[in-house]
Amino acid sequence: MTHTDPQLHGVDPRVAGGRLTVDLDALAANYRFLAEQSTPAEAGAVVKADAYGLGTGPVVEALVAEGCRKFFVALPEEGLAVRASAPEADIYVFNGLFSPEAAAFYREGRLLPVLNSQSDLSIWEAHGWDDEDAPRPCALHVETGMNRLGLTPERAKIVAQENALTGALTPRLIISHLACADTPDHPMNRQQLESFQALGALFPDAESSLANSAGIFLGGEFLCDVTRPGVALYGSNPMNGTVNPMQSVASVHARIAQLRHVPAGATVSYGATPVGRDTLIAVTAVGYADGYHRSGSGAGVPLRTAQPVGSHGYIEGRRVPVLGRVTMDLTLFDVTDLGLDTLQVGDFIELMGSNLPMDELASACGTISYELLTSLGHRFERHYVRSGDHI
Ligand SMILES: *Cc1c(COP(=O)(O)O)cnc(C)c1O
Repeated sequence: MTHTDPQLHGVDPRVAGGRLTVDLDALAANYRFLAEQSTPAEAGAVVKADAYGLGTGPVVEALVAEGCRKFFVALPEEGLAVRASAPEADIYVFNGLFSPEAAAFYREGRLLPVLNSQSDLSIWEAHGWDDEDAPRPCALHVETGMNRLGLTPERAKIVAQENALTGALTPRLIISHLACADTPDHPMNRQQLESFQALGALFPDAESSLANSAGIFLGGEFLCDVTRPGVALYGSNPMNGTVNPMQSVASVHARIAQLRHVPAGATVSYGATPVGRDTLIAVTAVGYADGYHRSGSGAGVPLRTAQPVGSHGYIEGRRVPVLGRVTMDLTLFDVTDLGLDTLQVGDFIELMGSNLPMDELASACGTISYELLTSLGHRFERHYVRSGDHI
């Protein structure tokens, strides 16, 4: 395989220390499932942070092919990347306008700002327009409990009254964000819904959107007009403590750089973790610089006192534990039970994927799948596959 587009394919496969494989059919199937669960609402897609680390271009193209017409990103530059693959879509940018100069950037890219404050509203009204009377399409974010971004309910009421008179802005979508959607019984969910419904009613010409991935599974009124799934598209379980209904999309493999025997009592990696038996070690060429978190080390990190089990790899039908501390560029696995006959230098160990669910790896690292995905580094060889042509 020749090395064509480093943006898309990452590092040359002949020399890469690891491989990131993105299954676009699994992504498409996840979108179809979430769209079905969202019915009668329309399912958009959240593709911020380079589509949660998996690559905006291929992800957006696959979603457009499934009929997705509304995309959400955090920053305007991300919106431009989406625009390149979705010429006709509505592209909403969550973080709003930081400065008057930003307005022209949005307009040129045909991006729709999510206006989060009075300052955002004033900027979008006044800046970046050649034509005084041009409509100013946008989304409005109303605050219902996150206290992160969004107009306070008092401010939203004033805006609704004023805008009904002046028509200065054309709000197309009213959004808010759930704080506890992955905990269905949490009283916050219903409180936020009620507050959101009251605020949404102030803008009768706009659609409404409240549910993220987990919010979709709250169902019913939470679906509103448009849903905004993110992490579930990429295969993470949107609900706590249930069987994951999503298909695995991302897999990460590390290449074995060396196989070595160490005797019982020898020590491994930084901090000198002792090994309890004669051990065969697979030294792999992926480390925390690639997003394989140090907190998932087998030993020698604070998290192991709170939660004794560290990360695992998977090879030849077996799970193999991380040995000692994960380092920047290298991670050691205990492959004693497999033996030298089955392994060779250059083989790949799975770090995350269909055999090692990302939610499980995240929990071994004391974090969430969102952080794992968005930490994936730039040193992987990247493959975009359709299920069936897995390598
Ligand atoms: C990131 C984000 C989403 C998507 O959330 P998931 O939990 O990944 O589905 C939806 N809405 C807003 C405002 C977000 O910031």
